[in-house]
Amino acid sequence: MDMLAVRKRLEGEKSRLEGVLDAAGRGLGGEEGVRPDQLPAEQAADTLNRELDTSVEVRVRSELAAVEAALGRLDAGRYGLCEVCGGEIAEARLEAMPAARFCVADQARAEKDARLRGAH
Ligand SMILES: [Zn+2]
Repeated sequence: MDMLAVRKRLEGEKSRLEGVLDAAGRGLGGEEGVRPDQLPAEQAADTLNRELDTSVEVRVRSELAAVEAALGRLDAGRYGLCEVCGGEIAEARLEAMPAARFCVADQARAEKDARLRGAH
């Protein structure tokens, strides 16, 4: 695998995600707020929009954390190794998801666990 190309991809992804967070940060809070002359329905819509913004921000932050972790593994010479079993992650999988943390089997297990937890 071409580690230099991987690093370039991860760093590009990192600055893209940081740009998204920057834009989200400017869009949140600020001068908008709830105006006293607003109808309750408009206030509810505003709240919904802020919640959507927040969920996008949470997702982008977790993507950014994954990219930073992948860069850290690259520095440590452990890039492409599953965090659970230590096995090699398939190259095709890394091509599709350069920040992948788990091999296919452990990813499937992690997603199953998350679904089970979500059911409660
Ligand atoms: Zn694994």
